Amino acid sequence: MSYQVLARKWRPRTFSSLVGQEHVVRALTHALEQNRLHHAYLFTGTRGVGKTTLARILAKALNCETGITATPCGICSACTEIDSGRFVDLIEIDAATNTGIDNMRELQDNAVYAPTRGRFKVFVIDEVHMLSKQAFNSMLKTFEEPPEHIKFILATTDPQKIPVTVLSRCLQFNLKQMSREAIYEHLGYILQQEKTTAEPAALRLIAHAAQGSMRDALSLLDQAIAYAGGKVSEEAVRAMLGAIDQDYLFRLLDALAQQDIKAMLAVADEMESRSLSFDSALQDLAALLHQIALAQSAPDALGQDLPERERILALARQFDAEELQLHYQIALHGRRDLPLAPDEYAGFSMSLMRMLAFRPDQAGAVAVPASAKKKPEGAAVQDPGTAAPAAPAFRPEARSAADAAGAAFDGDWPKLANQLKVSGVARQLAQQSELRNFDGESMELGLAHSAKHLAERIYQDKLRAALHGYFGKPVALKIVIGEISGNTAAVQAQTERQARQGKALEAIQGDAFVRELMDNFDATIVGDSVKPS
Ligand SMILES: [Zn+2]
Repeated sequence: MSYQVLARKWRPRTFSSLVGQEHVVRALTHALEQNRLHHAYLFTGTRGVGKTTLARILAKALNCETGITATPCGICSACTEIDSGRFVDLIEIDAATNTGIDNMRELQDNAVYAPTRGRFKVFVIDEVHMLSKQAFNSMLKTFEEPPEHIKFILATTDPQKIPVTVLSRCLQFNLKQMSREAIYEHLGYILQQEKTTAEPAALRLIAHAAQGSMRDALSLLDQAIAYAGGKVSEEAVRAMLGAIDQDYLFRLLDALAQQDIKAMLAVADEMESRSLSFDSALQDLAALLHQIALAQSAPDALGQDLPERERILALARQFDAEELQLHYQIALHGRRDLPLAPDEYAGFSMSLMRMLAFRPDQAGAVAVPASAKKKPEGAAVQDPGTAAPAAPAFRPEARSAADAAGAAFDGDWPKLANQLKVSGVARQLAQQSELRNFDGESMELGLAHSAKHLAERIYQDKLRAALHGYFGKPVALKIVIGEISGNTAAVQAQTERQARQGKALEAIQGDAFVRELMDNFDATIVGDSVKPS
């Protein structure tokens, strides 16, 4: 007997065996049971979630010799022929290779004739979004007045590309990506049936690598069984997937927690000598940091059977939440920038150094970015001792105008924002915004996108009233949502507070300015520009 690959052998043949798509199954079951049939169905979802599998099951449900049913028998000739792909009235078209109008004409010619064997002639058009415009137009004719004996099942990964005229005539179902947990469990079930064993960690790796596709998961499992030649071990799957041995990553993070750059680079060297992929390493590092963050905030969410559970919990105690967020971000960016690095090793080790540079040093000083490509004027190195953003964000001409307005305002908006008699969200608005312009009569404030919810009219009105009170005359207020440099009371307060506590990272993390610099300008931190407070 020839070996049948798992993906085919375990392809679901009934609605009930379809994993992870309960919402779609329920709707289709109801429709079939109540005989409320539509003439066109559209299944959407990413690759490998089971669109064509579902189409075949539906074709059986429509054509089973026991009658239209949500539970096709699976043994009649219609069912078996559909399962084996040789049912004459099931016409499967791959639109990716048959994009043209001729293919549609053929389909239309064929559609005229009554089904040979079944109740319905079922056309399954996979990747239907690939059809040409003319092909869609031609299809539309059949769609508008479909013969009674015709059912269309369309499948696509990209429903956006389907003309509305077609969409509106379909009953649409969105198939979900399968969760890792669902894949993991299903793999376990299949192995049990196959009387093969695997280490749970090995199955987790596969479930992870499958990225939501059960089909991919089963193919990988097949490979793993062949690769391992017996019990599917974690080590074998790691080797097969080219996954990084977690041990490297744990050692890296241990060294990072100790702020031991030498040890970190030693690990990187070791990884290079074994020709491991630094791209995967950064990806896995981000995944690990995610798990550590999870362990911190929701320990229960961490799988009990996770092999590295103890090490993850240990690391969760060594980093604080903001550090983890930051390292995660650095890992992601490091991966993104890897193709631009002189070489992978350089890109990887720079990411490691970046993680280290973003930590508070022993003296409790704040590490701040000092080398942004494009920094606001004067916003050079911030000395945490004074903790004041160095440069006023408003323009010199604005300053002189403001001076002219009276001695009451010296241009220090963060200071004024703290003094104004407003509370609640309006206070947040004052403290999170920065001065763009003030000529004594009208004031323009910049507010970051992330804080734009503060700019609602009601809060603007309150702030305007407070300004009126302060200046003793009406002030026209304009809030501009956009990029800000960070010269705000909120940022100042945060920097001061955290400099005191020696928690530099927290300040940087919460600071929209720094984040923006990192996101937009690839800012890095120069560790030795940091002065102790
Ligand atoms: Zn049947």
